[in-house]
Amino acid sequence: MSVPLLRWGLVLLVCLLAPAGFAKDVKVRKAKAKASRMVRIHGGHRMHRDAAAAFERMTAEARESGRTLLVTSAWRSYRQQHYLWRLYRKGLGPKAARPGRSNHNRGLAVDLVVGSGLESPTYLWLAGNACRFGFRRTVASEPWHWEYRPRSTPKPRDGEDCLGRPLDVEQEPAPAVVRTDAS
Ligand SMILES: [Zn+2]
Repeated sequence: MSVPLLRWGLVLLVCLLAPAGFAKDVKVRKAKAKASRMVRIHGGHRMHRDAAAAFERMTAEARESGRTLLVTSAWRSYRQQHYLWRLYRKGLGPKAARPGRSNHNRGLAVDLVVGSGLESPTYLWLAGNACRFGFRRTVASEPWHWEYRPRSTPKPRDGEDCLGRPLDVEQEPAPAVVRTDAS
């Protein structure tokens, strides 16, 4: 091969490979920027800073009512979500969304220990109070999965809790909510 031809070949190769390398850099930088918006919540987990602040306020108030909000999962990296999603696809794990489709990847979802589910004291407390902090359920089959969606979560009316029950009346078991997404 002649020298000029070789040179042009090299130029062409660089032109072809550079955008791919650049795109990868952008992806890595974006992932790092996202991770830097995550802050620690109790139990060593992380959430988006806005969600974390609301969650810690909610936890403090729950504690005053004698409820402990224990976290089992909050922010997940794409890699962690990918692992869970693959387990789910193989039938080896619980339902998990595709990487990027879960609000856990955005630091806006938190999984909590709710005991036996819809009638446990912790669940009932969340059902009656979480909306005041911008949290609500989004997955019908997962009473432990709560998401921070302050804009689309209506606040209760004065004197009522999140289910419209008067605040001074003993609370009945809460009805099941919601749509069916994967978390
Ligand atoms: Zn979840």
